[in-house]
Amino acid sequence: MTRATSPLWHPFTQHAVAGEMIGISRAEGATLETHDGRRILDAISSWWVITHGHRQPRIMAAIRQQTEKLDQVIFAGFTHEPAEKLARGLITHAPTGLAHVFLSDSGSTAVEVALKMALGYWSNLGQQRTRILALEHGYHGDTVGAMSAGARGVFSRAYAPLLFDVERIPFPQPGREQTTLDALEQACRDPRAAALIVEPLIAGAGGMLTYSIETLAEMSRICRKHGVLLILDEVMTGWGRTGTLWACTQAGVAPDILCTAKGLTGGAIPLAATLATPAIYDAHYSTDRSRTFFHSSSYTANPIACAAAVANLEIWDSEPVAERIATLVAMQSQRLDRFRADARFANVRQCGTITAMDLTVPDDGYLAGIGPTLYRAFLEAGVLLRPLGNTIYVMPPYCVTAAYLDRVYDAIDGAADRVIPR
Ligand SMILES: *Cc1c(COP(=O)(O)O)cnc(C)c1O
Repeated sequence: MTRATSPLWHPFTQHAVAGEMIGISRAEGATLETHDGRRILDAISSWWVITHGHRQPRIMAAIRQQTEKLDQVIFAGFTHEPAEKLARGLITHAPTGLAHVFLSDSGSTAVEVALKMALGYWSNLGQQRTRILALEHGYHGDTVGAMSAGARGVFSRAYAPLLFDVERIPFPQPGREQTTLDALEQACRDPRAAALIVEPLIAGAGGMLTYSIETLAEMSRICRKHGVLLILDEVMTGWGRTGTLWACTQAGVAPDILCTAKGLTGGAIPLAATLATPAIYDAHYSTDRSRTFFHSSSYTANPIACAAAVANLEIWDSEPVAERIATLVAMQSQRLDRFRADARFANVRQCGTITAMDLTVPDDGYLAGIGPTLYRAFLEAGVLLRPLGNTIYVMPPYCVTAAYLDRVYDAIDGAADRVIPR
């Protein structure tokens, strides 16, 4: 084994086995170009962030224009047009009831902010509600609070002493939804229950596990009934991934707090937002300074990032994005058909623009040896797919063509043949 020559330490990467990182010099649409001129199909939207496509012209132009005016300014005591426009635009596009926007830098921070808002709400109301409820297999980010709410595993073991305890609700496996609802009802009866945090309709990093619209609606109803706040983590599901701008609107669910990041700027530049209802805001609104929402980060509401997000909203308003997404949903569904009766795969599933299937291998789970083997086979075929253990999923930007998707699914077929002979 030769040691890597770069001083860089990459995310979720075991450098002792990963080999050299692939140098990327350009991106266009849904394709990456390597230093040595090879093309790679970006079938996972560069880790779920790119929505319309790479270097979307309006977003790039908005970033360029903003750099001519204002790069960064402290956001306590000051404001600026890109942030004001973004906040108003977000509220217009958000599920009903959300009226306030807190900006931060990543999905993880959006979740930290949401958890703190929920605890701050109850604390300012003088109630001892401090317990967070969360779904099994959830993923909410890699900072300590977000990790606490997420599923535990080999990736959190070393940090377990730092993580706070949450009330874990069983995942609503198809056919076992009542178990989830009963457990949630039970947990909500605990007078300490503060908030439930869930990824609506699909648990992403937990294995692209889908659940029904009805279950989401029912979970929301149970929370409401017991006065438990509902935090929806739409960091992955937002901006069209599940077929609609937000996943929760499919279930007619309006959360108390909503987290968004990834596709907020079309994926071009980091930015996140946590949206809250007037009740959450009002609980912090007081001449008593001790009730302030105590959170900030240096780059809160960075003007360049906000300008990119405003351009993203303009794209949603002026271009046929919904039609593009509907076309992609249909194309994805057609391409899944050939795998539905294929014994090499199980749980062939789709949630909007996202498809997933589990390769039937005896060794499953995140560290399934099969993952890295498949990953390399896909790259050899010129396709970036990053299986979660034995789960292969496709989450492309919305600009992909039928021919592009054919290449992606041919690569899946081919890679499966290499590991499971028919
Ligand atoms: C990716 C993700 C996060 C974390 O977002 P980062 O920007 O990577 O910090 C949180 N929640 C969900 C559902 C995600 O998919």
